[in-house]
Amino acid sequence: MGEGRRALLVVDVQPTFCEGGALPVAGGNAVAEAIARYAAATHDRYDLVVTTQDWHVDPGAHFSEQPDFVDTWPPHGVAGTEEAELHPALSELGPDVSVKKGEYAAAYSGFEGVDGEGRSLAAILREERVTDVDVVGIAESHCVRATALDAHAEGLRTRVLTDLTVPVTPELGAAARDELRAAGVELTASDAAFPAGSAADGEGGTGASDGARSSDPGA
Ligand SMILES: [Zn+2]
Repeated sequence: MGEGRRALLVVDVQPTFCEGGALPVAGGNAVAEAIARYAAATHDRYDLVVTTQDWHVDPGAHFSEQPDFVDTWPPHGVAGTEEAELHPALSELGPDVSVKKGEYAAAYSGFEGVDGEGRSLAAILREERVTDVDVVGIAESHCVRATALDAHAEGLRTRVLTDLTVPVTPELGAAARDELRAAGVELTASDAAFPAGSAADGEGGTGASDGARSSDPGA
């Protein structure tokens, strides 16, 4: 509880990582749609919404003609291509900050990225006085995992919303969840992220002091 500020980190929800893309994760498109619905429903819960994108110009050995799918991958997330853009399902998301990563080297964690002004994700979150982050996106076993671990290492209270992410394989997903739990990252289903009656609950309006904005008829 307390007076924390919360950010939603939407990691690498790009067509390149979804069915039909260059490096597809099964379930990617469905997760993109689910994230869009969640973000619309919980808009008031977040002080900041940040997207990250894999945005490769020349990432060296990250790309390979004979990828091992461990350290090397087929070309994906190529800067300037349509499939490196945010997923069309997120067209209404309106992120406060967009972070891009991996221009000239592999970058799994959103904390390796920068925004259009060159600010690192850690600097952005500090500037915005964010204390809590919820991480969603693609893929749970790779970039979501790395982003959540870095968030926790930055001292942020960190949750991964388990139904709003998808791993490359079930086995890698299970391993990632074990690692996240062991590191102190909380794993939560999205429908349990904000229990009914908690502060700023949009349905009940339990907090009289929070009611002013929603009842404001506007000018
Ligand atoms: Zn990449």
